[in-house]
Amino acid sequence: MREAARLAELIREQQPCVVLTGAGVSTESGIPDFRSPTGIWATYDPMEYATIDAFRRDPIKVWDFYARRLEVLKQARPNAAHRALAELERRGLVEAVITQNIDRLHELAGSRELVEVHGSIRTSSCLQCGERVPFEGVVQLVEEGGAPPCPRCGAILKPDVVMFGEPMPEVEIDSAFALARAAALLLVVGSSLEVWPVAGLPQETLDAGGAVAIVNRGPTPYDGRAVLKSDGAASEVLEAAVAALGPGP
Ligand code: NAD
Repeated sequence: MREAARLAELIREQQPCVVLTGAGVSTESGIPDFRSPTGIWATYDPMEYATIDAFRRDPIKVWDFYARRLEVLKQARPNAAHRALAELERRGLVEAVITQNIDRLHELAGSRELVEVHGSIRTSSCLQCGERVPFEGVVQLVEEGGAPPCPRCGAILKPDVVMFGEPMPEVEIDSAFALARAAALLLVVGSSLEVWPVAGLPQETLDAGGAVAIVNRGPTPYDGRAVLKSDGAASEVLEAAVAALGPGP
């Protein structure tokens, strides 16, 4: 695969390399993305299920949606794309992975320097008393009776993911922008680059003199300014790029 060989060369030569991932890196693990024709928003209206106002108005309805997602997330395992990124980090060729995903798959694959800008399904929290419950506990509560009650005060828990209308986590966003500015190569994997402020990260890299490479099925607003654009499947391209780099240390 010529694209993979070129990507390997870019990763080797343009250090530090920082990776930005979106829902497309996890579709091959069986988790649908949002915006492609088979994505979640083709079935569910985000305004009804993914805003903090919707959650405050009707948390039981929002949990009905999340319970279905939880079922998928519970079983999902990292795919070759997650594993390739963890391997590149292990070899010292990836400094950090910035992800919009909330699915924990980068962590399960072994990525260490992870910036989760939209939170994670790893925990859910009580908006009343602040109690925090880990994923497994939430899954059990949901299986017992739908919208999970806080074990301490009984209010309905909220997944610790950023809903539309909520502020972004400041520390993570600052860290993502600093990493993008310092990157000689920002490798975007599986993101339509439509959701702000993350969609601004490639511009940050370009303005600071770095390069942007994109592995995404379908167009992004940065395709014309990227040193490499691959429309291939993330798992295939990244696995082939790692292979093209040769055996690791
Ligand atoms: P998006 O749905 O806007 O874009 C995903 C992109 O990936 C699309 O362009 C799609 O064509 C492409 N794609 C799908 N499968 C691919 C594959 N195998 N290889 C290469 N490209 C592939 O997703 P986004 O940019 O991450 O949008 C941001 C929002 O989606 C975030 O808020 C994120 O939290 C949320 N989200 C996360 C998950 C998850 O945690 N896995 C799942 C759905 C949505």
